[in-house]
Amino acid sequence: MTSTLSPTLGGTKHADTQLYVTATHKVRSTSGKPPFAWVPYGVQHAWPAGSRKTLCGEWTSGWTVFWERSFSATPHDACPACVEASLPEASRRRLDPALRRTA
Ligand SMILES: [Zn+2]
Repeated sequence: MTSTLSPTLGGTKHADTQLYVTATHKVRSTSGKPPFAWVPYGVQHAWPAGSRKTLCGEWTSGWTVFWERSFSATPHDACPACVEASLPEASRRRLDPALRRTA
C-alpha cells in the first residue's frame, strides 16, 4: 500500500461514502413471508448518501432510496454505469484497456 490520496481511509474502497440502492419505483416483494418488504423495481442505481444524483448522473428527485440495501454490482438489474462508477480505481484500470495503457 503506497497510496497517498486517502491516508485516513484505511485503504478500502469508497470508505467515505456509503452507496445505497435507489430506483425510480418500488414494489412489494412477493417472496418470503409477510410483511413483505419494499424492493426496487427496474434498474437499481447507486446513490451516494447526501447526493442529489446517482453515480451515473441521474437526478434522484422522487426516487426511492433503499436505506437497508447497500449498492451491489451483483443483481442483474444493477445499472451498468453505476456499477462501473462504483468500482475501485484499481479494478477500473484492470477492466479498461485505455486506462491501463496510461497507468
Ligand atoms: Zn445508474
